[in-house]
Formats: sequence, C-alpha cells, structure tokens
Amino acid sequence: MNIVLLGAPGAGKGTQAAQLVEKCAIAHISTGDMLRAAVKEGTPLGQKAKSYMDAGDLVPDDVIIGLVTERLQDADTKAGFILDGFPRTSAQAVALDAELSKLDRPLDAALLISVEPEVIVGRLTSRRMCKECGCIGTATDTVCPKCSGEMYQRDDDNEATVRNRLDVYEKSTAPLIDYYRGCDLLVEIDGDRDPKIVFEDVTKALSL
Ligand code: ADP
Ligand code: ZN
Repeated sequence: MNIVLLGAPGAGKGTQAAQLVEKCAIAHISTGDMLRAAVKEGTPLGQKAKSYMDAGDLVPDDVIIGLVTERLQDADTKAGFILDGFPRTSAQAVALDAELSKLDRPLDAALLISVEPEVIVGRLTSRRMCKECGCIGTATDTVCPKCSGEMYQRDDDNEATVRNRLDVYEKSTAPLIDYYRGCDLLVEIDGDRDPKIVFEDVTKALSL
C-alpha cells in the first residue's frame, strides 16, 4: 500500500500515519521528522532548512525532492510507504509521480484529512511532543503518555508561525487536492473527531 497523506498542518497526519504504519507494516516517511532530525544533528541539510522551518515557510523543492527520492530507494519502502508532509507543492507532486513510475510503484491513495483552520490554530498552539519517542500530546501532558519522556513545544507551534503555515498550506498545498482528485486517488476523511474514530474511517475508506 503506497499512500500520500494530505491535510493542513495539525490535521492529524502524524497521528493517523503512526497507526497506519503499525497496522500495515509499511514505512513512515515524514519529511518534517526527517528535517527536524537533520536540524538536531546540525547536518548541512539541517542548517539549510532551519530558517525556513522556524518561519513556517517551505524548504526549497529541490532540497526536499532530493531527500524523499533518496529515502524511497531504501529497502523498507518496498513493502509500501506512507508519505506524511510530502508532496506540499505541485512541483513536488510531479517529481513524486516521475520517481514512482520509474520505480514502478504507483500510489494507491491520496488520503486527505480535513479540519477547519480555526480548529488547527487551537490544536497546534497547545500541541506538545515527546523528546524521547516523538509521540504527540497536549499542553496538559506533563510527561509523555506513552513512555514518560520529557515533553516540549515545537519551535514552529507558536500562533504567528502557525498562521503562516496555514497560509502556505492554502496557497501551495491545497491545490494538490484537485490534482489527486483528477488522478482518481483522493479519499477525504473528516479529521475533526476523536483520532480513534478518524482511524476507523481511514481503515474503512482504504478497505484495510
Ligand atoms: P506540519 O505540522 O506543518 O505538517 P511538518 O512536521 O510536516 O509540519 O513540517 C515542518 C516544517 O518542515 C514545514 O513547515 C516546512 O518548513 C518543512 N517541510 C516539511 N515537509 C516539507 C515539504 N514537503 N516541502 C517543503 N518544506 C517542508
Ligand atoms: Zn514518549
């Protein structure tokens, strides 16, 4: 199963991806996680990406396309993959199509998790992440609900940056919804519900 996840920042892509990965034993390719790891390690990629990420802007297409193309060569993606945070622009979608047809591994679905912008602002500004396992929690979690690790707030989860990320999403990424609808791959799920209910809908929609 090869899936692209679409949806605004904070729509719950990461949460649904984690459950899909567990259920289907496929590779989770989160460009946000890959970039944050590069920033933390201080690699040349991380140094290049950091200022874009802190502002809530997109990292340049050539950088991110190179990163994903390389990741898709890894053996663990052969059993299937879920792309979380990529593609985010038309150029990225076109590059992905080209690479996947080269690899002869076409997409099975583009899963759109829909949530209204005002709900997103509330979610992201109260979002906290676990330093140890990357698990997603809220401002009320003093420690990680999964592993008791320390929780932190992402640098880009402040209100000003969140609003910019939403603008960028509307301008650059939302057009991909029509792109994938045109390819007959779009599956839309209402993401403004309990994550467990959302996942039930996801599994039904993908016949898992
Ligand atoms: P979000 O919660 O906004 O979905 P992510 O963790 O997916 O956050 O991404 C965080 C940041 O990393 C983005 O705001 C952007 O700067 C950068 N980024 C991630 N994926 C991409 C991509 N496909 N193209 C360009 N920039 C990206
Ligand atoms: Zn944890």
